[in-house]
Amino acid sequence: MSLQLVWFRSDLRTHDNRALAAAAAKGPVIGVFLPSAAQWQAHGHGAGKIDFWARGVSALQEALRGLNIPLLQRDINAFEHAPDTLLALAREYGAQTLHFNQEYPLNERRRDDAVLAAFAGAGIAAHGHHDAVAFAPGELLTGKGDYYGVFTPFAKAWHRRISAERLALDDAPPAQAPLGIQADASGEKALENTPEPHRWPAGEDAAADQLARFLRFRGRYYNAQRDFPAVSGTSELSPYLALGMISHRQCLQAVMSENNGQLAEGDAGLGTWVNELVWREFYQHVAAGFPRVCRHQPFKDSTRALEWRDDEAGFTAWCEGRTGYPLVDAAMRQLVTTGWMHNRLRMVAAMFLAKHLLIDWRRGEAFFMRHLIDGEFGANNGGWQWAASTGTDAAPYFRIFNPTTQSTRFDPDTAFIARWVPELAPLTPKARHAPPAAERSLLGYPQPIVEHKAARQRALDAFKALP
Ligand SMILES: Cc1cc2nc3c(=O)[nH]c(=O)nc-3n(C[C@H](O)[C@H](O)[C@H](O)COP(=O)(O)OP(=O)(O)OC[C@H]3O[C@@H](n4cnc5c(N)ncnc54)[C@H](O)[C@@H]3O)c2cc1C
Repeated sequence: MSLQLVWFRSDLRTHDNRALAAAAAKGPVIGVFLPSAAQWQAHGHGAGKIDFWARGVSALQEALRGLNIPLLQRDINAFEHAPDTLLALAREYGAQTLHFNQEYPLNERRRDDAVLAAFAGAGIAAHGHHDAVAFAPGELLTGKGDYYGVFTPFAKAWHRRISAERLALDDAPPAQAPLGIQADASGEKALENTPEPHRWPAGEDAAADQLARFLRFRGRYYNAQRDFPAVSGTSELSPYLALGMISHRQCLQAVMSENNGQLAEGDAGLGTWVNELVWREFYQHVAAGFPRVCRHQPFKDSTRALEWRDDEAGFTAWCEGRTGYPLVDAAMRQLVTTGWMHNRLRMVAAMFLAKHLLIDWRRGEAFFMRHLIDGEFGANNGGWQWAASTGTDAAPYFRIFNPTTQSTRFDPDTAFIARWVPELAPLTPKARHAPPAAERSLLGYPQPIVEHKAARQRALDAFKALP
């Protein structure tokens, strides 16, 4: 009996899981999950994401139970203990091969390299599969053989080379004969709880339902509605994609079945949505190809010398949703309360911190990571560096959103503001975009902590001063 170990990480599903499918094709499988609380904290993940992770592991365990695959859990606390722990398990159960799906940020790659080296040293096979993206980092390169640092040519290359084979789905493996190995208790107990667990039911069934609902009711309107935070116009699949409770292939296959077999062509709403999945992949390639971004460095070297301001009061006001800019405040309160923020607002809130307050984007990146249930290194870092004009495809430094104009364009009837900044609800919808000073005082809402024009100029000056 050639036992196969499958190490689950951020790929918490039994369907269309490359490592699991490859392992099950070779022999009976034992699953492993290694809770790594100290490491997750060092990576800045907060209670909401860790709780979602734990609930996802429980759901995975249930799904694996139906296949007679036991899921073992060994608390390793930090990545450095992964090689010894996995080797010990492989020896204990006489496993022939270890399988896992690769993760691309630097610390994860180092961890996986150490595991591969330890297994090679012990003479046990170990295999890292490419699963999270259609093209493994390094497969799509510019004509000069470099990683893409700009999205549009990356996306063109992606569309040129995507094929049915790359998007082929792996079935969940058939149930195996019981191994007589007891699964470990669910990780749920070991990890923290979040205030709103019911908003995001965990697991691959919940993810599949969410995808089906999106494609049935919203997919075709995606282009028209995706920028309006008061409307539920986007898929809200990010937490599931971040922890692999659904795969990008499952998403893309579902789009093709709705869209006459097409991805980019055909329905404009669905085509635009596909493009967002390509953005997700792009930022994973950036994390792998430009490891400096994993070391808290800007992608654009020229912005390294930028003089960010020390402004604790400003940072606290931003975190607490008390900047006096209603759309920014509504966004930050949505984040802190629900663990999720609408994409348009992530751009507005991030740009406000990095440009209006001229506070180091890395502080904002860390704050988002601590609160986002979908916190994912590539997308978060990429989004922040875009907003701060330090990254790939970055907004040019002189492009600075006016938060009030963003509010009138994207929350025209201020329904979103009224929901998250209830102290402004008594005002007329129009007045809520930028309430008059006297009304603010009456309603207990702060005056703007910076004046848009002056703050904009200060940011422009700081960027112009770069060598
Ligand atoms: C400052 C900032 C921080 C961000 N941090 C994260 C993060 O930690 N995790 C995260 O998943 N996304 C992040 N994003 C990207 C984006 O805001 C979210 O993916 C999106 O809002 C999730 O909502 P949705 O699932 O309804 O997206 P949809 O619009 O339905 O898009 C479908 C999927 O495509 C991917 N996606 C969409 N937009 C982007 C993008 N700009 N970059 C990368 N992937 C994208 C996500 O996986 C998303 O679930 C960030 C964006 C910014 C500007």
